[in-house]
Amino acid sequence: MKLALAAAALAAGLVATGLAATTAAQAGDKIALFQNKSIFHSGLRSNHVVAFTFDDGPNANTAGVLDVLKANNVKATFFIVGRMAHRHSELLRRIAAEGHLLANHSATHAMLNGTFDAHPERLIEQLKDVDDQIEPLMRPGDKLYFRAPYGAWRSAHAGILNADPVLRKYVGPIYWDIGGDITRSADGYIMSSADWDCWHHKWSASACAKGYLREIRRKNGGVVLMHCINTQSADLVAAVIPALVEEGYTFARLDQIPEYRQYDTPPLPQAPQAPVVASAGPMVLNTAILK
Ligand SMILES: [Zn+2]
Repeated sequence: MKLALAAAALAAGLVATGLAATTAAQAGDKIALFQNKSIFHSGLRSNHVVAFTFDDGPNANTAGVLDVLKANNVKATFFIVGRMAHRHSELLRRIAAEGHLLANHSATHAMLNGTFDAHPERLIEQLKDVDDQIEPLMRPGDKLYFRAPYGAWRSAHAGILNADPVLRKYVGPIYWDIGGDITRSADGYIMSSADWDCWHHKWSASACAKGYLREIRRKNGGVVLMHCINTQSADLVAAVIPALVEEGYTFARLDQIPEYRQYDTPPLPQAPQAPVVASAGPMVLNTAILK
């Protein structure tokens, strides 16, 4: 009975979308979720949509970042480091409770290089430690994302992790559009910033914010890389986000980005992939990017 209903629903969906052949082929091909290369393309550029991602936390400084996000009613994604979360489990719970998306950034922020090839169990443990902590806090429908520490990735890692029945549910590694480095124009203007390097240069939060804002405006949207663990982190967010609110930007969690839907595993029994996204959650994305 259940099966018949599922089959009927599937058939109806296929007819409705007119994608019967391609969907079936895609469904069969798309079991692996970790990609051989970092996912660089978010599709947010030129669309006036920004997805803030905060890496390496949580720690005591994360509370101030959460306060600023709450005051501006902005939801973001936090790439959690396991050893930080073990020490700050209350903050981990607060991130989830305030509607942000938890994501996986490894247990110890290890450089995932070739030394893991001979020890796949160590690679798996790097991700399982975080998964064990964030998974119980996630809501039904939340999706799982991974970002590699330092952006370092090897295609061999994808094969190892996709063979694991739990970790294969992740999409990644997720890269970024904005916040990768400090650049200046020929006449010395800050054209882009990377927060860790701002603090290394002892810049103020407002100086660092100029680079973020200029890069965001120049690209007109994108996935933004920041960190939530420095004493200046909250001031930086407070200098960037209200300006973007004023300029009419839409803010998205990673699971609201249509471009990433192509990496999802089809549900079982295999049903057609929805042609358009908009995940569960209170926020509505700018329809312009759903084309
Ligand atoms: Zn990191």
